[in-house]
Amino acid sequence: MSNYKYKLSSIKAFAFDVDGVFTDGTVLATDSGDLLRCHNAKDGFAVRMAILNDYPVAIITGGSSNSIINRFKLVGIEREDIYLGSHYKIPDFLDFCDRHKIRPDEVLFMGDDIPDIGILKECGLATCPADAVNEVKEICEYISSYPGGKGCVRDVIEQVLKIQERWSANPEAYSG
Ligand SMILES: [Mg+2]
Repeated sequence: MSNYKYKLSSIKAFAFDVDGVFTDGTVLATDSGDLLRCHNAKDGFAVRMAILNDYPVAIITGGSSNSIINRFKLVGIEREDIYLGSHYKIPDFLDFCDRHKIRPDEVLFMGDDIPDIGILKECGLATCPADAVNEVKEICEYISSYPGGKGCVRDVIEQVLKIQERWSANPEAYSG
C-alpha cells in the first residue's frame, strides 16, 4: 500500500477551511453588510456521510458569518466544531483534536491559502483543492483534481470512507 493510501486508511477525523475549499472563494458583499457564499450540495452530502459514520468534522475559518454556522449545522456538524474568526488556526485545530481525543496525525485537513499552512504541516494528511495557492500546493500530499466549491471536499471524504469500507451507495444508509 502506498504511503498516501496507508494514510487514508488511518484517518479518524476531518477538518476544513471554508473559503476556497467549500466555496470557489467568491464572497458576495450585500448592501446590508451580509457576506454570501455558494456551497456545493455534493460536498455537504459527503460531510453528512462522514458525520453519520461517526467521523468528527471541524470547520476552521477566518470568516465569521452566521450563515457559516447555519450551513454546517444543517449537515450535522456540532456547533463547537465550527471555529469562526480563526486567523491563526493551529490552536483551534488542536482544541478540536483534544476534545475528540484524536491525534493531529489522525486528521485529514484541506485548506487553500497561507493561513492554512500551519495546520497542513501539523495534520496527518495535508490536502488542497486544485486551485490552491502555490505555497499550499507545495506542502500538500494530495492535490484534488477538483477546485474549491466544485467537489474537492467530496473527493477526499469519499476516498477515506471508501478505503475504510464506510461508504455506501444505498440511500437508506444516509436517512438518519
Ligand atoms: Mg481559504
